[in-house]
Amino acid sequence: MVTEIGAEYEVVVVGGGPTGLMLAAELALAGVRVALAERRIDQSLEGSRAGGLHARSLEVLDQRGVVDRFLREGQVVQAAAFAGVTLDLTGAPTPHPYSLGLWQNHIERILAAWVAELPVDLIRDCTVVDLAPDDAGVDVLCADRRLRAAYVVGCDGGRSAVRRSAGIDFVGWDPTMSALIAEVEMHEQPEFGTRQDATGTHALGRVDYEIRDGAVVFAEEGPVRVMVTESRVVTAAAEPTLDDVRAALRSVYGTDFGTHRALWISRFTDTTRQAATYRRGRVLVAGDAAHIHSPVGGQGLNTGLQDAQNLGWKLAQVVRGVSPDDLLDTYHAERHPVAARVLRDTMAQVALNRPGDARHDVLRGTVADLVDREPTRTAYAARMSGLDIRYDLGDGHPLLGRRMPDLDLELPDGTRRVFELLHAARPVLLDLGTPGGLAASAWADRVDVVTAAYDGAWDLPGVGTVAAPTAVLIRPDGYVAWVGEHTADGLDAALRRWCGRPSRSR
Ligand SMILES: Cc1cc2nc3c(=O)[nH]c(=O)nc-3n(C[C@H](O)[C@H](O)[C@H](O)COP(=O)(O)OP(=O)(O)OC[C@H]3O[C@@H](n4cnc5c(N)ncnc54)[C@H](O)[C@@H]3O)c2cc1C
Repeated sequence: MVTEIGAEYEVVVVGGGPTGLMLAAELALAGVRVALAERRIDQSLEGSRAGGLHARSLEVLDQRGVVDRFLREGQVVQAAAFAGVTLDLTGAPTPHPYSLGLWQNHIERILAAWVAELPVDLIRDCTVVDLAPDDAGVDVLCADRRLRAAYVVGCDGGRSAVRRSAGIDFVGWDPTMSALIAEVEMHEQPEFGTRQDATGTHALGRVDYEIRDGAVVFAEEGPVRVMVTESRVVTAAAEPTLDDVRAALRSVYGTDFGTHRALWISRFTDTTRQAATYRRGRVLVAGDAAHIHSPVGGQGLNTGLQDAQNLGWKLAQVVRGVSPDDLLDTYHAERHPVAARVLRDTMAQVALNRPGDARHDVLRGTVADLVDREPTRTAYAARMSGLDIRYDLGDGHPLLGRRMPDLDLELPDGTRRVFELLHAARPVLLDLGTPGGLAASAWADRVDVVTAAYDGAWDLPGVGTVAAPTAVLIRPDGYVAWVGEHTADGLDAALRRWCGRPSRSR
């Protein structure tokens, strides 16, 4: 029987993984009437999956005032890497010059607790099977109910029903490798660490670990996380079994270390695909629903969180009618190239990691050597941590389209960090001394104008020091939409473009 839910939503988010939770939070902060439809009956996740957050994702959470919840539970670690070279962010111009080791089940739990504090209708045990869009909205058809929304966002993972229902192509490359990944109990104690052989890379370690003096120190006891590359690519839908894990361990290590129980077994491949478009009319896709790739580099979850932050405020402005519908097209324009680069970077790393002959080993060493030299090292540290992302907002000051740095600003009531100004997820017009001041009163209901002083350096990750502007318009996602250099030229157009129609005539 299909239950009609009375309430119509402005947005239905399908899928409450990391991307969907982040998007629901962003929409709720912006005052959107939002439902999150999730097929799982609770947030518990089988297995640990993604291993943590990179610096830009930590900044994104910092901009919403919740990063401490994650930092409290995770392990600070230098984990950004390319071609086997660890790209240490120490000294980089960010409040978080590191990655955070924290398994995905904990990331989701913390995100879900945040969402629970916000006005989000979380509808569990709700599997979306199809969509029926029309001119005015979209019917979201679940197994046992129907929801209605002005817009629907599929955050429902790599096998997205939303993407399929919207007829969005998922284009890319078939897998060239597969690996078993599991959390198991063993009678024996193996040597932990990674191993490279003619089949590929394998790794053993405890699920629980600490970072001490920059090094991973595994717990004395507890489940072991196993990752074994398979000798032939397996893409069969059949779920791998404990016997498969034992056999794979024996073929690589010569023993299965007395593996007797599995808490979770899965398989991943390097299948690499991206949605041809992130938007079809009233339906959008984000996170794994929009892009999948090898886990090497740990980019998947991070890219999804940042998709969500890019999309949330734009959807809010469109459903509230302050911005035209085409603001949503900038979501594809900005985020598709970001994930396309992630896809290329992971493909390159898979190719480099692939076992080969002596010449392949030399190639791997040569690339590692090139990455490990300045200025490439600094550029790649910014790239693999997401700190160098630049949206194409036209030519101009190097800040334009880049993340706003977290400066310590002098305000009349004391010092405040830029990221604190973004907690409310509203645009901020920061006036640092524009001659004659800035006029944005026609947007006063939705833009926070802050007058402050700052006389330190403006350092951008991967770019270096840039000329100090006299004003910046910061979007709710923390990216710079306009830069003032002793004049307010262009501000009016930028406000209209990014903050919507003026609320009163000027
Ligand atoms: C084995 C494995 C290991 C991984 N390791 C890493 C890693 O080391 N580093 C890294 O960064 N990433 C890793 N990833 C990828 C990472 O887990 C994903 O990038 C991340 O989970 C994407 O988040 P998401 O919210 O977009 O999608 P998902 O996490 O897939 O969430 C989708 C959500 O939608 C729900 N859903 C699905 N279909 C429906 C439907 N029809 N109706 C309602 N709800 C639905 C699901 O229950 C789920 O909650 C790994 C993935 C796997 C499978």
